Amino acid sequence: MDPIEHVERKLADLEAHSLTRRRRIADTRCTPLQVVDGRAMLAFCSNDYLGLAAHPRVVEALRAGAQLYGAGSGASHLISGHSRAHAILEERLADLAAPHLPEARALYFSTGYMANLAVLTALGADNDAVIFSEALNHASLIDGARLARAAVTVYPHGDVAALEAQLAASTAATKIVATDAVFSMDGKLAPLPQLLALCERHGAWLFVDDAHGFGVLGAQGRGALEHFGLRSPNIVYVGTLGKAAGVGGAFIAAHASVIELLVQRARPYIYTTAAPPALAHALLTSLDIITGEEGAGLRSHLELLVAQLDAELRLARWQRVVSSTPIQPIVIGPNDEALRIAAALYARGLWVPAIRPPTVPNGTARLRVTLSAAHTHDEVAQLATALNELEAM
Ligand code: PMP
Repeated sequence: MDPIEHVERKLADLEAHSLTRRRRIADTRCTPLQVVDGRAMLAFCSNDYLGLAAHPRVVEALRAGAQLYGAGSGASHLISGHSRAHAILEERLADLAAPHLPEARALYFSTGYMANLAVLTALGADNDAVIFSEALNHASLIDGARLARAAVTVYPHGDVAALEAQLAASTAATKIVATDAVFSMDGKLAPLPQLLALCERHGAWLFVDDAHGFGVLGAQGRGALEHFGLRSPNIVYVGTLGKAAGVGGAFIAAHASVIELLVQRARPYIYTTAAPPALAHALLTSLDIITGEEGAGLRSHLELLVAQLDAELRLARWQRVVSSTPIQPIVIGPNDEALRIAAALYARGLWVPAIRPPTVPNGTARLRVTLSAAHTHDEVAQLATALNELEAM
């Protein structure tokens, strides 16, 4: 077959199953009110949970960082791209992780996707390693497990007993339990205390991807480990910095020896250009906000918004996922129906994405509503009213 025709058939197949993705162009900053493809919209789709992406102090710190360090890093970390800004940020992140991880060190990455690949490929590098992967894990954990030499066993969503049986039956030299802390398309929390107890009993690593918890959970925004009050040398932690922290990149925090192994062996760390130092510089301001009084205030406002949406939505047909986090999905079911509702919301000036397979399981296409501390009560009320009306139609 002609190669172009082959590709076009694949695209036609996606279209036939309502699985084609379309990008919209945001003309303005990532804020609740923004111009999208030239039109004013109220957005409920970003992961900018604290509203830091357009925070004046963070934007100013980014500008100052560019002034200090220039636009780019120029090389990978192990060649010459590791700047003072990266080093300061890593110290700061290690301090934040210290209450939860003995002898904590932190490593800054360009993206959470790469941080997850790094952990799984480096810790799971040996044939006698096994990765126990939660069924609803994010694509980056799934891809990391595929790329690692380790064998992979998927355990059913939230099923601690099934995982325990798998761990007990395994004679692997290295065992890694990998889970999202906050499931990205559900908003639910993983049972981390129970998972940690299992890991400690079975000599396994607990690899926690806290992409959606860092900055949001915990009194100081230190994430899921702070929320649950966990501390263990068995934990390897990833927090992302392009969501609640509002900038970009991610970090791994773990025992110093794990971080040293990653520096020496993790290909997604070694073979890529270091992120622009200005990002690391700006992130210091994000971290000040997250861990300070302002962050606490933003988190309490966000909690109130979550409670408000919960109280104001009156859905009979569509199924809500019970979630206490700013990720508030509404499961519609069929792909075309989810697209239709998202389009109807869009026509009313409300931007809410329809999430379809393979991002979520077949038959569970959903509206992924995300709330941000930058939203007002009035904006959340507008969303609830529109959803209640559309469902009743
Ligand atoms: N883990 C989870 C659970 C995520 O939702 C995401 C991003 N959507 C990532 C990892 C990847 O992070 P990043 O966007 O920084 O690559």
